[in-house]
Amino acid sequence: PLAQIGVTGLAVMGSNLARNFARHGHVVAVHNRSYSKTQTLLDAHGSDGTFVASESIEDFVASLEKPRKVVIMVKAGDPTDAVIEELAGVMDEGDIIIDGGNALYTDTIRRESSLKDRGLLFVGAGISGGEEGALNGPSIMPGGPAKSYESVGPLLESISAHVDGTPCCTHIGPDGSGHFVKMVHNGIEYADMQLIGEAYNLLRDALGMDPDAVADVFRQWNEGDLESYLVEITAQVLAHKDAKTGKPLVDVIVDAAEQKGTGRWTVKSALDLGVPVTGIAEAVFARALSGARGQREASKGLASGTLSAKPEDIETFTEDIRSALYASKVVAYSQGFDQIAAGSAEYDWNLHPGDLATIWRGGCIIRARFLNRIKDAYDENPELPALLLAPYFRDAVENAVDSWRRVVSTATLLGIPVPGFASALSYYDGLRAERLPAALTQGLRDFFGAHTYERIDADGKFHTLWSEDRSEIEA
Ligand code: NDP
Repeated sequence: PLAQIGVTGLAVMGSNLARNFARHGHVVAVHNRSYSKTQTLLDAHGSDGTFVASESIEDFVASLEKPRKVVIMVKAGDPTDAVIEELAGVMDEGDIIIDGGNALYTDTIRRESSLKDRGLLFVGAGISGGEEGALNGPSIMPGGPAKSYESVGPLLESISAHVDGTPCCTHIGPDGSGHFVKMVHNGIEYADMQLIGEAYNLLRDALGMDPDAVADVFRQWNEGDLESYLVEITAQVLAHKDAKTGKPLVDVIVDAAEQKGTGRWTVKSALDLGVPVTGIAEAVFARALSGARGQREASKGLASGTLSAKPEDIETFTEDIRSALYASKVVAYSQGFDQIAAGSAEYDWNLHPGDLATIWRGGCIIRARFLNRIKDAYDENPELPALLLAPYFRDAVENAVDSWRRVVSTATLLGIPVPGFASALSYYDGLRAERLPAALTQGLRDFFGAHTYERIDADGKFHTLWSEDRSEIEA
């Protein structure tokens, strides 16, 4: 039989996606640059469903029903371009290429545009959930021509995670929007993990809990508003003992966090768009600091000062940390959704933030109970000026604010780094401030560079003649 869908690139992600398609009753064409991976897939999992294997790209494309639909799951960057080029060479007008890799969204915009000129439809699909998700139901964020979604959509929705019967997959918008949204998703994942890390650090270093006790706290937190995949697996990782030493595994892992780049991309894009995603940026920088092992070694022994403020009551302070974590998380998501809105405006994507919250509820790494609240917030008011200002989140953050301040000030007095908590709180205070020192910044800019300023009591731009008589002129 002709295959309904093809997958090329059969490393861990591609194999698992191919198996997922097969398990859902689709006939799946499979291909990999080196045939050995194709053979391995068939040997180990051929019984998952109906696979049609090909050694050459020509046979692979010929084994598909028209319009042909091929998912590429290869290394992002040049390999993806190489594979697109091979496919495009043997495909026909109206065929569809779906890039499921972690492409940079600007690459996706470029690829979509050049393939459109060749009569092919290109879908840049962000896929989250890691290898487990790829096999059992990921969250899928496909962007590309609406026409492509008519035939690709049902296939992708069939293999995606589902929450309350709703697939965690929807057409995001044109060209690079799917990969853009996946990028911000990953950025939010960085922020989430950083905040979890800070909470863990405080429970250990401010309250003296051991990893087992901290695991218990996270297990409890997972029963409430913080319920999420990341909080759940935090408890599991913390409770795990190293087989070799018998110590908590977390104590034998080198404390230098690596990154593959999507967090950095998110921050770079946010800088270009002028959106303060401080939560994500702090998370990216915190990983960089952790990785600066030479500098950290050389800095051991830097004075911590003489102040101290050991929390008096373990239970109260644990609850303070929970509140600070939740409030900081609301800020990080609010900022991420601001970036999505800014990207949408910049590229004319007409993105619907409520849809994203819906498809992130399952399958992906940031899946959480919390996302239902985000969906509700945008359902209620699609024009929300900031997620943080939706009634539910506003209440949550306002109720947390005293705890949040106690946590940040205690951490500061104890010398425990909390860049995520502290910058989220400063962002909150900046957002709600009646007046910001930006007025002074404008005055200084006008002084040294005649950059002009606006007045609170008149329209137009003004300049003070600083080096003359200091009278004001309209610019
Ligand atoms: P890798 O990123 O390790 O890529 C390996 C695959 O790419 C192999 O099939 C390899 O073929 C192929 N490949 C590399 N270079 C070329 C080339 N020039 N031409 C043709 N094929 C090439 O695989 P993963 O499964 O980890 O990830 C696949 C994609 O999915 C990546 O873009 C990744 O960022 C993304 N992704 C990964 C997630 C994860 O959790 N791992 C989660 C979500 C997305 P060969 O066997 O011949 O070497």
